[in-house]
Amino acid sequence: MKQQSILVIGAGFMGAGIAQVCAQSGYRVHLMDIKEKALANAEKGITWSIQKLYQKGWLTEDPVVVLERLSYEIDDAAAESAVWVIEAALEVESLKIDIFKSIERRVSPETLLATNTSSIPITRIAAHLSRPEHLLGLHFFGPVPFMGLVEVVKGEHTDADVFEAGVEFVTSLGKTPVRVKRDIPGFVMNRIFSAAFREAVDLVSDGIVSPEDVDAGMRLGYGWNVGPFEVADNAGLDTFVLVGQSMAELGEENLVTKSDLLQKMIEQGRLGKKAGKGFYRYTKDGKRLPYGEEDV
Ligand code: NAD
Repeated sequence: MKQQSILVIGAGFMGAGIAQVCAQSGYRVHLMDIKEKALANAEKGITWSIQKLYQKGWLTEDPVVVLERLSYEIDDAAAESAVWVIEAALEVESLKIDIFKSIERRVSPETLLATNTSSIPITRIAAHLSRPEHLLGLHFFGPVPFMGLVEVVKGEHTDADVFEAGVEFVTSLGKTPVRVKRDIPGFVMNRIFSAAFREAVDLVSDGIVSPEDVDAGMRLGYGWNVGPFEVADNAGLDTFVLVGQSMAELGEENLVTKSDLLQKMIEQGRLGKKAGKGFYRYTKDGKRLPYGEEDV
């Protein structure tokens, strides 16, 4: 598989991370977005991250060589030569369907298609494709360079060989695949996390506890490495709201908070770490600090 070409669609938090990890694993990567600014940010972030990993000794290959495997593109012409197309655009079902319908017309018959959706069953997207058996879910976790898990999700029509190719591909990236044998909304990990996050948001929203006390509690009481509000800030609250809306539309309202806290925070520009403020505030070099009690 090495030296083969991969197209990643969407150069945001997840797409940039997926592209970086693929390049670190020896693949030739084309990262595509409709926004020049997203591509510029992705290039800056990936370059910084790869150099940092090298300085810390976590990456042994020359950063120049790794970075040469990546290109940043405003069009998806690279689809024609890609062995994998991985979609990591916004969590909007109609958008993902349009992207795959358009891509499918241009890829070779052997190209495998993956969506990084957090919530949408693969079967719903595949229903609009002429080769539904070539689509599967590869649900990466962010920040992708540091998270070891990828859920490999089998849609109703996903070919068994395509599913196994997904498992093999994920393994080639140094990640651990979790096989999700039937694609229900939110798959496995996101359903479990969503239930905890819904409760956490409701408790904070009702003034019972602060976000940092919940995070400390989950770290110290349950051995989580990061608390739910740290996860949300890393992921981006705008993405969390889109995922929640999608889950509700798919009939999973029980996994979504009824509080308008996230929406209010977004209106105040508190999108999470990328905005320098979310449930926590962040210094320029990314250090997380709590707000005063009156702020949340
Ligand atoms: P993001 O907002 O950081 O990035 C999305 C990018 O998609 C943006 O740069 C946007 O310009 C681009 N885009 C929009 N329409 C496009 C199109 N038609 N073609 C190409 N690019 C387009 O979002 P994200 O957090 O990276 O999430 C991306 C996907 O990954 C979503 O489906 C999300 O649910 C999923 N996901 C997110 C996380 C997380 O922690 N944020 C974790 C797992 C999965």
